[in-house]
Amino acid sequence: MLAEIIAVGSELLTPYRQDTNSLFLTEELNGLGVTVAFKTIVGDRKAHLMDAVSIAVHRADILLVMGGLGPTQDDLTREAVADALGVRLRRDGDLLAALYKRFAARRAIMPGNNSKQADVIESAAVLPNPHGTAPGQWLDTVVGEHRKLIVLLPGPPSELKPMFTSECLPRLRAVLPPRFIARRVLKMAMLPESEVDAKLAPIYTRFTDVETTILAHPGEVQLHMLCSKPFLELAQARVNELVARVEEEMEDAIFSSQGETLEQIVLYYLEIRGATVAVAESCTGGMVSQRLTSISGSSRSFVGGAIVYSDGVKTGLAEVPEELIEEKGAVSREVAEALARGIRRKTQATLGLAITGIAGPSGGSPEKPVGLVYIALDDGREISVTQKNFRGDRDRVRSLASQQALDMLRRKLM
Ligand code: ATP
Ligand code: MG
Repeated sequence: MLAEIIAVGSELLTPYRQDTNSLFLTEELNGLGVTVAFKTIVGDRKAHLMDAVSIAVHRADILLVMGGLGPTQDDLTREAVADALGVRLRRDGDLLAALYKRFAARRAIMPGNNSKQADVIESAAVLPNPHGTAPGQWLDTVVGEHRKLIVLLPGPPSELKPMFTSECLPRLRAVLPPRFIARRVLKMAMLPESEVDAKLAPIYTRFTDVETTILAHPGEVQLHMLCSKPFLELAQARVNELVARVEEEMEDAIFSSQGETLEQIVLYYLEIRGATVAVAESCTGGMVSQRLTSISGSSRSFVGGAIVYSDGVKTGLAEVPEELIEEKGAVSREVAEALARGIRRKTQATLGLAITGIAGPSGGSPEKPVGLVYIALDDGREISVTQKNFRGDRDRVRSLASQQALDMLRRKLM
């Protein structure tokens, strides 16, 4: 089953407003085993909307058209859909009466324009809208020789969502074969998307019944898998099979398979190892501490730390010898080591984690360019240091540094 979503509204073609309704609808449709194959955004122009509808009814089984059901001149969805399908509109007596009643209740005269909200595509059912004036429409029809479901929904999310849930979901369930959905997300840290895809595409492309999507964020690649089958066990088995193959390939690069964040995983491992961590952060300015403390229960494993921005604070709060900073520079392997050792000793944590780097855009030099970051981890017996040359702007360098630091901690604890 393929669906197409058409979002109507010139405002959705400006830089200022986004079509978010289709994200909601896609999730709901996926849950019914329906794939959204196309999304179209079209302005308030009748000819353009007719084009979009004509194309959509040929390539999709289910067509959801939203927006443009209001009473104003630019609300043309009813007319455009009817014309594109070559069917007539009928003025619904009950709807018209309800509209008059609504205005009368407010002691207002209904403007003539509003009566077009009572127009319904011939043979379509009316979907009541308790949250607004524009009712939806449900059309179960045949185009060519194929059965098509065509649904008109109001644009405002506060009207569309309840209408879809209470009116469309039960109708779709009655029409569609029963489907059960299994979903999984695998998350990997600090790998380029291209590398992940090169390794995994040969695997997931063989699972043609599992929809696989790769999403990349700075320092994190997510593999989303979705499978729909007539039985839940079948869907889960297929996803589990794919997960097992991916885990075999990526090994410990995968940090999460149940939706957890990297900081949640780090805290989980700290807790089961009975370990604590303290953090000395320079260029990340507290990002690692912020991420760890955003998780409830973090106090059991995160003891605290310091933002060691200036040289004086590196010396004062993390016992880094002044001469070492002078000799090697604040951004150096040696200072990173000394920070990790110093913060661990000062706080008596099991592990000391330190980050020092040049976030940019200023402050770089040929020997120490912007993006150079050292991350050190002291476990009391040995100190490991990672040197990274991140590319990107200040935000990106800082978030990559915090991600790398958390991943280093995770790998230490695994
Ligand atoms: P009415 O005009 O009666 O409010 P309508 O069905 O004509 O209803 P629109 O006028 O097209 O709806 O949209 C009303 C508002 O709903 C828009 O200003 C916008 O804020 C929001 N909206 C419309 N379409 C979308 C969409 N696809 N995603 C998110 N918001 C939307
Ligand atoms: Mg509109």
